[in-house]
Amino acid sequence: MRVIVLGSGTSHGVPVIGCGCPVCKSPDPRDTRTRASLYIQGESGERVVIDTGPEFRIQALKAGIGDLDAVLLTHTHADHLHGLDDIRSLTWDKPIPVYANEQSIAELKERFSYIFKETQTGGGKPRITPLVLTGTLNIGALSFTPVPLKHGILDILGWRITETGPGVGSAAEAARTVVYMTDTSAVPETSWPLIRRAGTHIIGAIRVKPHETHFSFEQALETAVLAGTRRMFITHISHNSTHRQIGEICRKFRETRNLGDIALGPAWDGLEISAPY
Ligand SMILES: [Zn+2]
Ligand SMILES: [Zn+2]
Ligand SMILES: [Zn+2]
Repeated sequence: MRVIVLGSGTSHGVPVIGCGCPVCKSPDPRDTRTRASLYIQGESGERVVIDTGPEFRIQALKAGIGDLDAVLLTHTHADHLHGLDDIRSLTWDKPIPVYANEQSIAELKERFSYIFKETQTGGGKPRITPLVLTGTLNIGALSFTPVPLKHGILDILGWRITETGPGVGSAAEAARTVVYMTDTSAVPETSWPLIRRAGTHIIGAIRVKPHETHFSFEQALETAVLAGTRRMFITHISHNSTHRQIGEICRKFRETRNLGDIALGPAWDGLEISAPY
């Protein structure tokens, strides 16, 4: 499977409108961060996107997304959902299912009420089927397991993504597994088994300083290490640090903790993560 970080930025994106800070003015392309989203493409052509933020259209064109089997949502904050209408051109032939938790599906129906009203018909709106997901979703050879997480007081979802194959629970399975958890401030006790036995973790963290509803860099790194990661990327990053500075923070963390060959670092827009995971 191919895993592409479509967007690695926090809610306002980087550069921030009206900001002239060194990160917002950075010439490093990795410091331009669109809103957080992940694209997964299976070997048999399965295509899934996690979250449709405000830049979904631009991200989809860049990544060459020509079809989608499903949209998965982490939660319904604007930076994760408000590009949803742009899946419209992919729904001309068939409706696309949108999977999320109960709270998010209720919120989606309210936020996009025009989609479900009879008053507007035709090509002016996307054809979507909102579905509450509680167990694992299988699409072709890929499986997506929702991981309940806390985002401040909000109950949101992370996603455990696995390519089906032999050796359930084995190291081989872990090497085929990616855990995506953005906008997280705490992992409930019952969700820890769902984030362990995965080779790669992509975890949201917005800055060095603690935040009420998001991990700091250190909390995200700590979570990845506790989950037994082999390779971890930070996403949902603010304009408080450059890509290079975060790389340095990760390097120091790895050295201080004696983490050997575990790879830790910031993601960037367009980053393609290849197997083994
Ligand atoms: Zn967010
Ligand atoms: Zn700035
Ligand atoms: Zn959020």
